[in-house]
Amino acid sequence: MPKKAASSSKAASRKKFLATTRERLLEMKNKLLGEIQTELRAEREGNKDEGMDTYDLASEERDREINFILSDRERLKIQQIDDALERLEESSYGVCESCGLEIAEERLLAMPFTRLCHDCQQEQEKEARSQRRFDDERNTYRKLGSTDVDDDNA
Ligand SMILES: [Zn+2]
Repeated sequence: MPKKAASSSKAASRKKFLATTRERLLEMKNKLLGEIQTELRAEREGNKDEGMDTYDLASEERDREINFILSDRERLKIQQIDDALERLEESSYGVCESCGLEIAEERLLAMPFTRLCHDCQQEQEKEARSQRRFDDERNTYRKLGSTDVDDDNA
């Protein structure tokens, strides 16, 4: 009995945490869009025919315009936020894509867009490192090999 109570309160706190995360992500996105709007407006003000305010534009048109002036970095950031929000909707947010365990809240606070738990991330980095080392060795052998061929041809 007490065990069950503990786990359900844990689930409740996780739910609360995810709700807070959602707020945080939405705030992040609003702030980012706000900055972009300000940039857009500043650009407009320098423009001669400023008959129309940015906010008078149909939102679809405005979106297109915003999209046009976005830098790759801003676009990537918005995309990351949207992805995370989508995963929150699908309740797949905060769950490690590799092992299926819940990602620690401290980790999600530090890296709200991460899709892997700490262990799996470490594992992946280790694999990537050894893969790189393997490739390096192979390239070295290939280079040595081709030098030999060149020597034969010469
Ligand atoms: Zn994992």
